Amino acid sequence: MTYEVKSLNEECGVFGIWGHPDAAKLTYFGLHSLQHRGQEGAGILSNDQGKLKRHRDMGLLSEVFKNPANLDKLIGTGAIGHVRYATAGEASVDNIQPFLFRFHDMQFGLAHNGNLTNAESLKQELEQRGAIFSSTSDSEILAHLIRRSHNPNLMGKIKEALSLVKGGFAYLLMFEDKLIAALDPNGFRPLSIGKMANGAVVISSETCAFEVIGAEWIRDVKPGEIVIIDDNGIQYDSYTNDTQLAICSMEYIYFARPDSNIHGVNVHTARKRMGAQLAREFKHEADIVVGVPNSSLSAAMGFAEESGLPNEMGLIKNQYTQRTFIQPTQELREQGVRMKLSAVSGVVKGKRVVMIDDSIVRGTTSRRIVQLLKEAGASEVHVAIGSPALAYPCFYGIDIQTRQELIAANHTVEETRQIIGADSLTYLSIDGLIDSIGIETDAPNGGLCVAYFDGKYPTPLYDYEEDYRRSLDDKISFYK
Ligand code: SF4
Repeated sequence: MTYEVKSLNEECGVFGIWGHPDAAKLTYFGLHSLQHRGQEGAGILSNDQGKLKRHRDMGLLSEVFKNPANLDKLIGTGAIGHVRYATAGEASVDNIQPFLFRFHDMQFGLAHNGNLTNAESLKQELEQRGAIFSSTSDSEILAHLIRRSHNPNLMGKIKEALSLVKGGFAYLLMFEDKLIAALDPNGFRPLSIGKMANGAVVISSETCAFEVIGAEWIRDVKPGEIVIIDDNGIQYDSYTNDTQLAICSMEYIYFARPDSNIHGVNVHTARKRMGAQLAREFKHEADIVVGVPNSSLSAAMGFAEESGLPNEMGLIKNQYTQRTFIQPTQELREQGVRMKLSAVSGVVKGKRVVMIDDSIVRGTTSRRIVQLLKEAGASEVHVAIGSPALAYPCFYGIDIQTRQELIAANHTVEETRQIIGADSLTYLSIDGLIDSIGIETDAPNGGLCVAYFDGKYPTPLYDYEEDYRRSLDDKISFYK
């Protein structure tokens, strides 16, 4: 297999609830606040006294549940939901979650955020043993492993299955009498537990979903942990002791909503600190700071406060277009930038602008924004990035799996500056990033995965390893 297979990767959002008469509706509202994590498809599965029902489809949550009857039929006091991100080629309703598995003696639903690094080998092995997959997503693998386990009790089967899958995963499993949440041994993806006034327990990829439904945050799920929620309350268990926090730093940089807290750190505050640190590392003269809306506005605020430069609204975003990160072709991506951003000439004309962005992936977007600012009259555009250069692919759930796609993997900082047409280009240092996020932990890299930036993966890469290693001339390294 080649590591350039893209069909296995996705960045999604999951939400679950147990113990509320309006479980499916609350799941809808929870998912609505997680919509930024996936716009390709959505689904909700409800549990009505052991009877599992589901509705799922392609599109935004509001489109999937345009007909209220589709939500009304999901009665019951438990529910799980999923919003899915994927590239266009994988668009198929079969891949939309939650999955629902019905066997003669049991049924359960499954929702997954992340990417398994040994999916291909597990799938081959399972197929050789007679398993039939109904989707091309790696998320289904866990269900087959649970089903095929010879362990006599359900929790034993689940623990055995969880110890066989590798990579990044946050799972929600809905059984007839319980809701189960589980996180990978590095906790790559965020997952938090909350409680509602009536005692209902909620689980969400991000805490911003708790605010929307009036739930109170209890704590985050720990790496390698299993959380079991049933009518008797919450029980915490684990399937491995070999754990070490390495949460994806891109959650703080780009993915998560600014009003979410992850491992005790508010995302907006972390971004502000990244901006302030970036200002300390920035070495050029400028007149104004302009953040690229929306995910760079917090970093721009921090940069402006630290540098003493005015923070101006020099770029306006059309809120009704999708993120360029998820558009499939170069040409569409460029069109997307034009559709979604405008430079404000009355603000930037004649000014030396520090343009703050959260990251540079392919460089196309940055080049276009620099051009927009210059066309609007900016005399200089200094690009300052609130994260280190993205030079390595991600195998834990983010949509970049080849180095060829990353401008920083193939060009020096000076070459990148020239390609994007900026007057200077500054990236935040890796140490600066780690200090700015500031999770309270003794884990390496401040409990963060920074493999995107340094190529040091917190786990072996399993199915991806051989080809990837060859592609780097063995430059890849591991710290565990
Ligand atoms: S490689 Fe990058 S995107 Fe992937 S989990 Fe690590 S930090 Fe996040």
